[in-house]
Amino acid sequence: MARWKNWSGRHEALPEALHFVRSKEDAMALVDKARDEGRGIRVAGSGHSHSPLVVSADWIVDISGLAGIIEIDHPEKTAWIYAGTPIYSLGRSLHDAGLALHNQGDIDRQTVAGACATGTHGTGRNLKNLSSAVRAVEVITGSGQLVRCSAESQPELFSVARLGLGGAGIITQLQLQLRDSYQLQENGQDMVFAELFEQIPELAERHDRFEFFWHPQTDQATVKRIDETTGLPEYPVSVEGQRRAWNYEVLPSHRPHLHTEMEYSIPEDLGPACFAELREMIQADFKQVRWPVEYRTLAQDNIWLSTAFQRQTVTISIHEDVRLDESAYFAASERIFRRYQGRPHWGKVNYLKAVDFKSSYSHWQDWWRIRDQFDPDDVFINDYLGSIRS
Ligand SMILES: Cc1cc2nc3c(=O)[nH]c(=O)nc-3n(C[C@H](O)[C@H](O)[C@H](O)COP(=O)(O)OP(=O)(O)OC[C@H]3O[C@@H](n4cnc5c(N)ncnc54)[C@H](O)[C@@H]3O)c2cc1C
Repeated sequence: MARWKNWSGRHEALPEALHFVRSKEDAMALVDKARDEGRGIRVAGSGHSHSPLVVSADWIVDISGLAGIIEIDHPEKTAWIYAGTPIYSLGRSLHDAGLALHNQGDIDRQTVAGACATGTHGTGRNLKNLSSAVRAVEVITGSGQLVRCSAESQPELFSVARLGLGGAGIITQLQLQLRDSYQLQENGQDMVFAELFEQIPELAERHDRFEFFWHPQTDQATVKRIDETTGLPEYPVSVEGQRRAWNYEVLPSHRPHLHTEMEYSIPEDLGPACFAELREMIQADFKQVRWPVEYRTLAQDNIWLSTAFQRQTVTISIHEDVRLDESAYFAASERIFRRYQGRPHWGKVNYLKAVDFKSSYSHWQDWWRIRDQFDPDDVFINDYLGSIRS
C-alpha cells in the first residue's frame, strides 16, 4: 500500500499503487493498463493544491522524472517544457537563454503542468495566469493516444487540457509563450488599512504588480509593489519586500508555515467592496483569526475554466493554520465571495457543488462533453471530479 499527501497534509491518499513514469512510453502503457484493469489514474505534480484533486484510491502517477526544457524557439520566444519541471528550476535556465515567464505565483515549488492545471497566477492587472501562457499541450488521453493540441490543431481538446484539472489525461509536455528576461524592483511597505483602501484602484493601475495583505486583529496592511526596472540586480538578493533582481529571483517567496487556503476571483470593480465586507465579517465573527487576507489582481483571459474567464479580476485569499478548524470561517467567507460572483481557485478550498460551477462558467458543460469524448472510460476521474461533474 502506497501513501500520498498534499503539501499541507490535509489530503492523504492510500492508493493501490504509486507509479513513477520516466518516459511517454511508460505513461502510455500505464493508461492502457489502467483501462484494461478498470483503474483510475490521477497525476500528481508537487502536491501543492489544497483541493483533493490528486487523491485517488487507484493509481497516482508521479511524473517528476519528466523534467527539463526540451527546446527553445528564440524568434517566437516559446519553449517546449516537460510537464514535471518544477517552476524553481525553470527560472535560471530560461534566463540563461534570455527568456522568462510573464508572471508566476508567490512560490515556485509547483510543477509547470500542475500550476497550469489549476490556473495558478501571480498579481498584476495586465498579467494573465500561467495557463494563458500555454500555446500547445502534449497529452495522453484516456484512450491511450498521445496527442498534440493547440488553438490550431485539436482546439477543443486544447480548451480542456490547457486548464484541465488533471481530467484531460497525462500531460507530458507543454509549449509556453515566454518573453525577454526582465529585472524587477520590489517595494514592501506597511500602511494603515483605511488609507490603503482608498488607494486600491490607483495602486493597481500604477504598478506592474500590486498586492496587499491585511492583518486581522490590527488596522495594518503590508503592501507590495513590484515594477520592472533597468537598475542593476543587488546580490545577495535582499529580503521579501526589498528585492531588486531578475524576475525569477524576485517573484517567488518563502512560505514555510503550513496552512490551508481559500481563494476567490471577483470581478475587478467589485473587489474592494467584497474585501470590505469580508473584513467586517472577520472583525465581528472571527476575532480569533490571525492569518492575513491577501488581495491580488489578474488580467482576463479566454480559457474555459479560468477564474478570470472574460472578466478583469481581483483575487482574495484567506488562510488558516493547518492545525486549526477553518470550516466555519471559510464557509462564512465563501457566502460573501459568492454574493460577489466569486469563482474559486481550483487548487484551493471550496465547498461548491456541480450546480454552482455550472452557473459560474458558461463553458462548464462543454468542458465536460469534450473531456468525456477523450476519456470515455473515466480513467482520469477521481471522487472529487466525479462529485462536481455535470
Ligand atoms: C504555499 C502555497 C502557495 C501557493 N501560491 C499560489 C499563488 O501564488 N498563486 C496561485 O494561483 N496558486 C498558488 N498556490 C496553489 C498552487 O499553485 C496550485 O494548487 C498548483 O496547481 C499546484 O501545483 P502542483 O505542481 O503542486 O500540482 P498538484 O497540486 O500536485 O496538482 C494540481 C492538478 O494538476 C494536475 N496535474 C499535475 N501534473 C499533471 C500532468 N502532468 N498531467 C495532467 N495533470 C496534471 C493534478 O492531477 C491536479 O489536478 C499555492 C499553494 C501553496 C501550497
